[in-house]
Amino acid sequence: MKLFKKKNYIPIGRTAAPETHEGRVERKLQEEPAIPDGMWMKCRFCGALVYKKEMNEFKICPKCGGHFRISAADRLAITCDEGTFEELDANMVSKNPMGYPDYDKLIAKMQEKTGLKEGAVTGFCEIDGYKTVIGVMDSNFMMASMGSVVGEKITRAIERSTELGLPVVIFTASGGARMQEGIISLMQMAKTSAAVRRHSDAGLLYVSVITDPTTGGVSASFANLGDIILAEPRATIGFAGRRVIEGTINEKLPEDFQSAEFQLKHGFVDRIVERKDMRKSLSTIFKLHSIERRDGLK
Ligand SMILES: [Zn+2]
Repeated sequence: MKLFKKKNYIPIGRTAAPETHEGRVERKLQEEPAIPDGMWMKCRFCGALVYKKEMNEFKICPKCGGHFRISAADRLAITCDEGTFEELDANMVSKNPMGYPDYDKLIAKMQEKTGLKEGAVTGFCEIDGYKTVIGVMDSNFMMASMGSVVGEKITRAIERSTELGLPVVIFTASGGARMQEGIISLMQMAKTSAAVRRHSDAGLLYVSVITDPTTGGVSASFANLGDIILAEPRATIGFAGRRVIEGTINEKLPEDFQSAEFQLKHGFVDRIVERKDMRKSLSTIFKLHSIERRDGLK
């Protein structure tokens, strides 16, 4: 999309000819402050062009309230009590178990682009004073597809919370299994699900918060196994894509199919919570489950 006409600068060293009218117009254009990429974004819900600086820390469309996808760092910043996040398995990185062509290069490129090592970040934190283990997936990293590292980090986070008797909260977002890791990525579904089961058998709480988009192997494993399942408004939640299903069953699907609202209506989601209210909702859930709170807090 082009918002402003931009012209190239005159290369350094080129002698300027006497200024013509066109030349003056061109010079004026060049003197315009450059608009750096990424200052604007288009809301995928209402189509409005949103100036990024107009958005607050919750990254919500000021026109329609649509929830934009946010990075793991932003999610942790708005969820955890300040200064309480302590990362687990920060340096775990993927190998190339199937020898998939250029997979290593792709991972390196993603690491450079996002500043993350992988598509999920896990750790300890406090939310409104309640001690918990937290997992956050970041769709900027290969659509947070679940390979061996994402699966292992999520599993270890759940296991750690089981060992310590803490609740675990996981903010899911994923395009599904990571095809470059073949069967190993599919194994992560069973591994994470088994960890959730052991956590549950220990009588401990797991809150799943489904954010946009949560699909494929992640929606078919730990995302939908929470004791309590929250979702952000209008998040896409599903297994296979709409076109695949329509092509298979040869039927038109309802307009709101695979939205958080559709899943709530059909009993798969317990509550839709706006991002600005998420901390408060989690805090209430912890309180109701008698979760240990930081010393001195009532
Ligand atoms: Zn909007």
